[in-house]
Amino acid sequence: MNPKPKKYFGQHFLIDTHIVSRIVAAIAPKPGEIIVEIGPGPGALTAPLLLKHAHLHVVEIDRDLAAALVNRYPPEQLTVHETDVLQFDFSQLIANENTDGKFRAFGNLPYNISTPFLFHLAGFAHQLTDAVFMLQKEVVDRMVAGPDDDAYGRLSVMLQYQFALEALFDVPPEAFNPPPKVMSAIVRLQPLGADRPRAKSDKHFAHVVAQAFGQRRKMLRNTLKGLISEAGLSALGIAPTARAETLSVAEFIAIADATGG
Ligand code: SAM
Repeated sequence: MNPKPKKYFGQHFLIDTHIVSRIVAAIAPKPGEIIVEIGPGPGALTAPLLLKHAHLHVVEIDRDLAAALVNRYPPEQLTVHETDVLQFDFSQLIANENTDGKFRAFGNLPYNISTPFLFHLAGFAHQLTDAVFMLQKEVVDRMVAGPDDDAYGRLSVMLQYQFALEALFDVPPEAFNPPPKVMSAIVRLQPLGADRPRAKSDKHFAHVVAQAFGQRRKMLRNTLKGLISEAGLSALGIAPTARAETLSVAEFIAIADATGG
């Protein structure tokens, strides 16, 4: 299959077989696992995965590419969900199957939807075993960054609240057709266990994190004004003059729990 890549669907097709092998090795499918690929495109990752795994689900928005995959593989091998992954209900993958009630995910993601997609997937974290994704390196850097790193921000805190994250390796532009303008990287996400530190309200936690990073260079006593007083921050052991970019996930949880919600 050699379809012409469509820019508006973020299509950059993998052509480097060495990189493909490294991604397949990172996924390392085991018999019986329910595995879904996001954005299979012409199948650079799908085909080698199917040599190692009896069945895959794929979610592809491009009608032509989805149809080509339906023609190429029988339904016992490949279930093609032709839809926008941002609308996809991942829980349907496990609804009718006799498994541990979990799925795995992987994909060379369309970079234009990467952040909304990660937030969408986070809603299914309790049913996810792990995920391996190719993303813009700049996004992977933000995902794995810790307090005080330049890249640390709302995305880091919101994802690290739910996942253990590991940057695996970088992928240069020449590995794709057409080559993107930026470096890419592979990242693994593993949901934290049920015993992970958790705010009383996830929604309020998200609100506090968004408010604190709204103006990341400003001091917390200003960004969180109206939510928590200087004395309230001090009582939690957090300097009112600190900035959001220096707070750990645990400190954001403490502020959320102290401010209701
Ligand atoms: N997996 C292929 C590869 O590695 O060569 C293609 C990767 S390409 C970067 C991203 C793929 O995601 C394309 O096939 C594109 O059509 C698909 N895609 C883009 N937006 C999507 C969306 N909202 N939902 C599902 N698939 C999408």
